[in-house]
Amino acid sequence: MRYSFFSLARNALAGHSLWPPAWRPAKPKTGYDVIIIGGGGHGLGAAYYLAKRHGIKNIAVLERGWIGGGNTARNTTIVRSNYFLTPNSNFYEHSLRLWEGLTEELNFNLMFSQRGVVNLCHSQAEIESFVRRYNSNRQNGVDGELLNRDAVRRMIPALDMSEDHRFPVLGAVIQRRGGTARHDAVAWGYARAADALGVDIIQNCEVTGIRTQAGAITGVETTQGDISAEKVGIAVAGHTSQLAAMAGVTLPIETHLLQAMVSEPVKPFLNSVVSSGTHHVYVSQTDKGELVIGGGLDGYNSYSRRGMYSRIEDITAAAAELFPRIRSLRLMRKWSGAVDMTMDGSPIIAKLPIDGLYLDGGWCYGGFKATPAAAWCLAHTIANDAPHDLNRAFSLERFRTGHLLNERGQGNRPGLH
Ligand code: FAD
Repeated sequence: MRYSFFSLARNALAGHSLWPPAWRPAKPKTGYDVIIIGGGGHGLGAAYYLAKRHGIKNIAVLERGWIGGGNTARNTTIVRSNYFLTPNSNFYEHSLRLWEGLTEELNFNLMFSQRGVVNLCHSQAEIESFVRRYNSNRQNGVDGELLNRDAVRRMIPALDMSEDHRFPVLGAVIQRRGGTARHDAVAWGYARAADALGVDIIQNCEVTGIRTQAGAITGVETTQGDISAEKVGIAVAGHTSQLAAMAGVTLPIETHLLQAMVSEPVKPFLNSVVSSGTHHVYVSQTDKGELVIGGGLDGYNSYSRRGMYSRIEDITAAAAELFPRIRSLRLMRKWSGAVDMTMDGSPIIAKLPIDGLYLDGGWCYGGFKATPAAAWCLAHTIANDAPHDLNRAFSLERFRTGHLLNERGQGNRPGLH
């Protein structure tokens, strides 16, 4: 869209009141073909792909608060695809490819920045484990490079490379196509595109019950009344078990609290995302100059979003150990989100044992990077009543049969978002 100087000035003076809304303020109809519960990136994206790729137009996204106000807006936006196990690396690589074209597809600037994601190695055992992951990535067509100490020093001069460090840096693995994106924009971009295809996006509409009859979905109960639906998809991040329980389904998921924080802005000195599994910390620098810092879980089950101060201390101490120059920086903000942890560190995108009910959840530390592929696969699974090859392994069944996708030791652990 192009604006003249006068139209820019008019809009500035009018306090944005002349801006066209990016999506309609929809009210619920009595029924839909598909209802998606949760207006984060996953839910909005699923509605978009259902309408765009599968031709289903009678869709509503129900969001209990405002869209993108959940973990989509609370995460540290690391995007990468170098997971260890083949089903995960295929899925996340599909996601990364979708990210690479998403700004153009949605005609919305997602500020996707492929600045590289660096995972540091601090011991021989860690090098060996990362070499295994790197080899597996190469076999699956996922890019990656191993860096020795000198290469790490050259690439990240601010890093403390001293040999007498508590955990000296011995090397690293980098995925140069990895990076970051603007979190809110992902929700807004999918919302605008879905709305343009006729999807109703209904905010302030909490789902309080899921209705079933004879083992099949009939609709949902909400704070804006009952709505019937032939199919319902759940994409509610840290509230997955609660929603599934409304339909009588118990999930192998624990909900935990994960914190992140930003510092005051400083001159650019870090042009990649740097992450250390040993220190349980990762650091990147925003375009504004703030340092975004995150780490591991608080370590107890909770739906609260408060977080322990001792965890902030651990995370900032670890960051300052890696980057001594940030010791005197002040923190500007810190926040938390509730994350759903599966027992094997891999997600669930599957039909549930109730006809017409589908789940996207269990994202552990890493569901932001998954947003496009998760939405794409959830839409496919709903439309076809069967998984795509990309999400076939992410079944609920695997926890009963023991066919787990144990990613925790390699691709999905604290500090490796
Ligand atoms: P959300 O954005 O949370 O959307 C779900 C929506 O469901 C919410 O808006 C919520 O209000 C709504 N909802 C809940 N219950 C109901 C109900 N009953 N009725 C209606 N609506 C309901 N991932 C990465 O890949 N990289 C990272 O760097 C990263 N960093 C993270 C850092 C932190 C601190 C946290 C907390 C998470 C991080 N994640 C990261 C994980 C990532 O944020 C999530 O996996 C991802 O954003 C989930 O997206 P979503 O759309 O499923 O969920």
